[in-house]
Amino acid sequence: FQAKDAKTGVVVYDPDMVVDQPNRLVLLGDLRRAMEQPDELVLHYQPKVGLRNDRLCGVEALVRWRHPVRGVVSPAEFIPVAESTGLINRLTAHVLAMAVAQARTWLDEGLEVPIAVNLSPRCLLDPDLLGRVRELLVEHGVPARALRLEVTETAVMANPALALRTLNGLHDLGVRLSIDDYGTGYSSMAYLRRLPVDELKVDRSFVTNMSTSDHDAVLVRSAVDLGHNLGLTVVAEGVETAGQVEALRDLGCDIAQGFHYARPMPPAELAGWLRDGGRDPRVPAPVRMSGA
Ligand code: C2E
Ligand code: MG
Ligand code: MG
Ligand code: MG
Repeated sequence: FQAKDAKTGVVVYDPDMVVDQPNRLVLLGDLRRAMEQPDELVLHYQPKVGLRNDRLCGVEALVRWRHPVRGVVSPAEFIPVAESTGLINRLTAHVLAMAVAQARTWLDEGLEVPIAVNLSPRCLLDPDLLGRVRELLVEHGVPARALRLEVTETAVMANPALALRTLNGLHDLGVRLSIDDYGTGYSSMAYLRRLPVDELKVDRSFVTNMSTSDHDAVLVRSAVDLGHNLGLTVVAEGVETAGQVEALRDLGCDIAQGFHYARPMPPAELAGWLRDGGRDPRVPAPVRMSGA
């Protein structure tokens, strides 16, 4: 059921696999197996940088699947398939365990950098999620503020009552919460106000086109204003150019994340990135005169 390149013999999944039942089953089986291997699923970390001080203020954990035959498989390919079954809850548990363990390692090295983990819509309906997060934090001795969870509005709207219960529970633990991909989903101001989130991440699609599309520029501006009016920190996703950084600074956006600063990288590379021009949070910022 897998396509095989005649010359190389390399097995590739059909790109239409998501709708292709046999390939979908192959992938699910492979993913189940991968979760039992030590280093097949790994997390890469992408820096989030403060636009006012150019300093690292957090990282987002993004899962990577190093498939023994297919090479690196993108989460955009396997997360949707896992989401269509209960496997996403096990995968999320696995990702959370890796992220919290990494937070512990960095804390031991004196690097206090909060890690954000993505939650799929289904995870907000998982009654075991809250207890699992609590246990992981206790087990690794990691303070809750070192963990941030990202959810989309669409995920919340699928079952607002249950989602709100999960989010409030996480918030009560001290875990911080972000709205991811803002602008792409079903958006309701009324719910946004009720969610215990403190951060709004503006979707990459709007940031990408803000210099060429007035419509997208207006959307980024209004997202920044809305976020600030609700008391939220605003993050721009997918920042790739210095021009975008400038425009975002002008709008008063707080944080940027994107290839302009760094691609998602293995944890061992983060220290090097900080050394070579990223800003090291362990080094105090030079004191600036207020109003200067
Ligand atoms: P996301 O949470 O919105 O993550 C941001 C995505 O944008 C990442 O893609 C990141 O590599 C990419 N990105 C960051 N900066 C730039 C940029 O400047 N330009 C461009 N072109 N892309 C940029 P990635 O790692 O392929 O992940 C895709 C999506 O898969 C994520 O979107 C998230 O929804 C999902 N995902 C990734 N890891 C996990 C996970 O552990 N659990 C769950 N449930 N979902 C995950
Ligand atoms: Mg995200
Ligand atoms: Mg996002
Ligand atoms: Mg996005």
